[in-house]
Amino acid sequence: MNVLLVYAHPEPKSLNGSLKDFSVKRLEDAGHVVQVSDLYAMKWKAPLDAHDSTDRRTVERFDPSIESKHAFENGLQSEDIAREQDKLRWADALILQFPLWWFSMPAILKGWVERVYAYGFAYGVGEHSDARWGDRYGEGTLTGKRAMLIVTAGGWESHYGARGINGPMDDILFPIQHGILYYPGFDVLPPFVTYRTGRVDEAKFTGICDALGQRLDDLWKTEPIPFRPQNAGAYEIPELTLRADIAPERSGFAAHIA
Ligand code: FAD
Repeated sequence: MNVLLVYAHPEPKSLNGSLKDFSVKRLEDAGHVVQVSDLYAMKWKAPLDAHDSTDRRTVERFDPSIESKHAFENGLQSEDIAREQDKLRWADALILQFPLWWFSMPAILKGWVERVYAYGFAYGVGEHSDARWGDRYGEGTLTGKRAMLIVTAGGWESHYGARGINGPMDDILFPIQHGILYYPGFDVLPPFVTYRTGRVDEAKFTGICDALGQRLDDLWKTEPIPFRPQNAGAYEIPELTLRADIAPERSGFAAHIA
């Protein structure tokens, strides 16, 4: 299988750097082909802006969505964007690996998503009408591929528990797992999270690698998070609210998981 690992940490000798090296070796030893997009090493341009296309449609006013659509449809995207899209098409599985920074991904990785997820590629796909709201949330360009997050966090696991002060990790990662990965079609596996990174030493590192290695070995058999597909009847269209008879006791993020 082909695995794309998109990695965002500025220091190769960091915990994240070691976990990335471990993951690549484990996957390759198992016979998979791995490509790494090491965003800092690539000096990835994070901001989405008017330079992302080689020939803009309009020059008076830069419209990010319209320019993205125009560039994608006409082969006018800047080369770095097109190359990452090719890697996504090639991949059977995508891993996003990053340290949790301010309750989210580092800006350089957010910038990868914003620029690579072009209009027509990751959004704006399929019929958009009052009867059908596009191919998204379970359908889309990346359907049939798997995705997983590898995240490190300075906070303790309890800080991210059901009543922890930071809020549950599942909620913190929901916009990434549901909004960024499930949206264009990925089957999203439960994340691999390492907590309390300041306490990691040789012994803990070995334990983390054992657990991570198992998750990588199981990449093709782990059950995805059962997010509800948009177009399979659970949602009213065009309101896109969950039908009143489905999980009536639930609201918020949890309602969108079967
Ligand atoms: P490192 O600092 O490189 O390493 C952590 C520990 O692992 C060190 O003790 C190191 O010695 C050890 N280690 C590294 N490699 C190995 C190895 N090969 N073998 C054995 N031991 C090793 N945390 C939160 O919980 N929530 C937040 O919102 C949050 N926001 C942040 C925002 C910013 C801007 C920053 C800088 C940090 C933030 N943090 C937050 C903390 C952050 O999540 C952690 O610092 C990060 O996850 C640690 O990962 P690292 O790769 O940088 O670890």
